[in-house]
Amino acid sequence: MKFIEALKLKSKLFLLFVMITVGLVILGLMGALETKAMKNRIDNLYFGTFIPVSELNTILYDYNAKMLPSVYKAKNDLIAPRELQADLFDALKEIEQNWYRYKNQYKSRQELPYVSYTTLELEKTNDYFYKVIAASKAGVDMRKLSISVLEEKIEHINDVIKKLLDYETNVARFERKQFLQNYHETIRNIGLILAGIIFAVLFVTYNVFRSIQKEHTKLEAATKKLHMLNRKLENASYTDSLTGLHNRRYFNFIYERELKRARREKQYVTFMMIDIDFFKQYNDTYGHIAGDHALQIVAKVIRSCFKRPSDFTFRLGGEEFGVLLIGTDEIGSARLAKELCKKVKEQGIEHRVSKAADVVTVSVGVVSCIADEMLSSDDLLKRADEMLYKAKEGGRNRYMITSEVYAQVKKTLSKTSIIEAA
Ligand code: GH3
Ligand code: MG
Ligand code: MG
Repeated sequence: MKFIEALKLKSKLFLLFVMITVGLVILGLMGALETKAMKNRIDNLYFGTFIPVSELNTILYDYNAKMLPSVYKAKNDLIAPRELQADLFDALKEIEQNWYRYKNQYKSRQELPYVSYTTLELEKTNDYFYKVIAASKAGVDMRKLSISVLEEKIEHINDVIKKLLDYETNVARFERKQFLQNYHETIRNIGLILAGIIFAVLFVTYNVFRSIQKEHTKLEAATKKLHMLNRKLENASYTDSLTGLHNRRYFNFIYERELKRARREKQYVTFMMIDIDFFKQYNDTYGHIAGDHALQIVAKVIRSCFKRPSDFTFRLGGEEFGVLLIGTDEIGSARLAKELCKKVKEQGIEHRVSKAADVVTVSVGVVSCIADEMLSSDDLLKRADEMLYKAKEGGRNRYMITSEVYAQVKKTLSKTSIIEAA
């Protein structure tokens, strides 16, 4: 059963078709063999026993080979009268018995008049021989017996019986022909019916398969569409519509997971908190639409700076962005933060009311350390926020980095914090 379950639908249907076909072919062959055996039995039986020619042949034999020679012998004095009487009597009894048997077998309507005629002729001939017996018993000299009358009688009865014999043989031949024809027709019909059934089964199987496959294809297409929609929906629910960066929701979803992984693998984890300097003033000066545009440009710069598969960039809200890097040490992280500040500035987005520069700039708070069991996700964020605050305090348009989340844990690191202006 497990084998059947494991098969695919196509194979199952094919197996079903093969099984039905093989079953039908075996049934057909068995039927044909059985019919052939039956045909042979009927054929043998009919021609071996039922054709009533044996009785007629025996009758002819009795007249020609028994009675006629006995009378000849008696006429030539070669046998005694008693022997003649016994021979003739025995032969006549045998003829009567055989004729009785023959007459009681099935006769067709056309045959009946000739059979009646033959009965009369046989009786007449037999009467003649009974008279010979009676004459012999009465002591009549057999040498006086007329040979021509005897031969005439025998010749006549021979003609009558042979005619009947011919008729019987012809009828038998004809019936056998009919019978064989019927047999071949039956076999051919069985073959045709079987072929028809096999074709019908094939047709039904094929159509069932086609319709199932059609449904299957439809279902597959619908499932694919649904998958795509789900992915789109998922992406949409995890993407910030203004900047195209991951949103806070995705940050919440991925932050703990990535941190856990980093802890397990004892990898470097870096978190950067990025904030646009004097952005309120920017909005107030250039309007909200220009503000949105500036946000998009900054997001683009952020994305271009962090391109590795293990880098994640988020818009955490308002003009605040977050970056999570796995496997980048503090030197690499510092270099990247510096590059980010530089690139934002290089965009040259005018910001005449900013006290940090005459273009839009960002401040970045960075925390980068090897993840261990002691490292808590909240502390990492808090520390990055503190670093951002310090960068703002330090004059903005800069980053501040630390590798110390807990002073007591990170004692091994010589530098507790690095501050660099961009
Ligand atoms: P600081 O240099 O200390 O960061 O000052 P700031 O003005 O940037 O900081 P603050 O938090 O006071 O102002 C943030 C501003 O960001 C407030 C709001 O006008 C602006 N902002 C927040 N979200 C959006 C947004 O989706 N579109 C636009 N255009 N502006 C936004
Ligand atoms: Mg802010
Ligand atoms: Mg700001």
